[in-house]
Amino acid sequence: MVLNLIFLGPPGAGKGTVAQAVAEKNSLVQLSTGDLIRAEVASGSELGKELSEVINRGELISDEQMGQMLEAKLKELSSKEDFEGVILDGFPRTVPQADELSNIFGRLEQDLTAVIYIETNEENIITRLSSRWTCSKCKKVYNAITNPSKTEGVCDVDAGELTQRDDDKPETIKARLAQFNEKTAPLIEYYKEKDLLKSYDGNVPPTESIAAAEKLIEELK
Ligand SMILES: [Zn+2]
Repeated sequence: MVLNLIFLGPPGAGKGTVAQAVAEKNSLVQLSTGDLIRAEVASGSELGKELSEVINRGELISDEQMGQMLEAKLKELSSKEDFEGVILDGFPRTVPQADELSNIFGRLEQDLTAVIYIETNEENIITRLSSRWTCSKCKKVYNAITNPSKTEGVCDVDAGELTQRDDDKPETIKARLAQFNEKTAPLIEYYKEKDLLKSYDGNVPPTESIAAAEKLIEELK
């Protein structure tokens, strides 16, 4: 049976880790929009050239262009005899993109099997993600909670000063969460109404999160 899945969850919920484990176990293709864009640009196609210009101008790739690439790739994958399904990564992020995805699946005579929502507490995410510190000299990464340096703020190896990358700063993480809540969280209700949403508690270590996702998938088969 073909399984076409989407994982939803705020940044830091562990979507990437869980999706990779599930994809390997079930022979699914993990389809990331980032990879699709890079491949299109590298191919030198007309679309690839357009995308490259858009990116160089610092703009976002349109839903239409993203949909076009996704449809071409899905068509190629689903025409193979050994096609078992895909896990989409990075698409859809908004309700209009979800509508577009529904059209794409329709044209390819494929079905979206389920949307798996990793429920995660925001405070946990902020605490976990903002605990990363990097040595300004040797770039060694520490975690203030799980892997702290012997002396706070100082690297064990070379006594370099530990600093936070912009991505690890609480204000950056809060901004990404706000973006998720505004643009992507409406998809939770959207897919619930279509009776496609499956959720589990993601406030657990990665191995337990993977096991919970796998259990939901077994129930779909
Ligand atoms: Zn260091």
